[in-house]
Amino acid sequence: MDINKIYTILEKQFKSYPAPVVDLIEAQTKDPFKILVTTMLSARTKDQTTSEVAHRLFDTVNKPEDLNNYTLEELEKMIYPVGFFRNKARYLKKLPKVLKQEFYNKVPEEIDDLIKLPGVGRKTANLVRAIAFKKPAICVDVHVHRISNRLGYIHTNTPFETEMVLRKKLPKEYWININSYLVAFGQNHCTPLNPKCSTCTIYNECHRIGVKTKYNL
Ligand code: SF4
Repeated sequence: MDINKIYTILEKQFKSYPAPVVDLIEAQTKDPFKILVTTMLSARTKDQTTSEVAHRLFDTVNKPEDLNNYTLEELEKMIYPVGFFRNKARYLKKLPKVLKQEFYNKVPEEIDDLIKLPGVGRKTANLVRAIAFKKPAICVDVHVHRISNRLGYIHTNTPFETEMVLRKKLPKEYWININSYLVAFGQNHCTPLNPKCSTCTIYNECHRIGVKTKYNL
């Protein structure tokens, strides 16, 4: 399997898909705080919903302290209907205090610091580090985990294991963008159910592990 070839094809193809919401906010704002908030909102939520909610929120919330202007209930209403909006509102409510006390009101760059923020796990931390700071980090979400295994590039059981194996195996220059490319590819082509193998641009490189379609016979 030629990972360089796969990356080059996906890089080219990425330009023909709608940009994932976090990339969109990065292009529009270049603001680590907004990229962090959008990443938090986007978990278990469709990109279109995240985009609408993020833009609504950023009408009045432009820096961490602005979140202090709202009660928990108001934040819940502002970010509804993103998935787990009640939990996410609680995290947003706590965010300004933690950023101020621990990080001088700045979103930190390091994974070990990012995961100290309320509601931020490795996935969010890696994405913020990669997208907001352009630092090498591999964000493994459901798409990255599924497609890396379907390709047969890795053989792992959990996203954490996937991150650790990719950190050893994937060339470092591909880390920052691999999430964006695989998310777009996973939303549009190599979908969880019924992947479009018959029209897949990386069909010849893919072992289609666990994929049950007539094209895999
Ligand atoms: Fe996904 Fe099928 Fe393409 Fe493999 S051939 S990457 S399983 S769509």
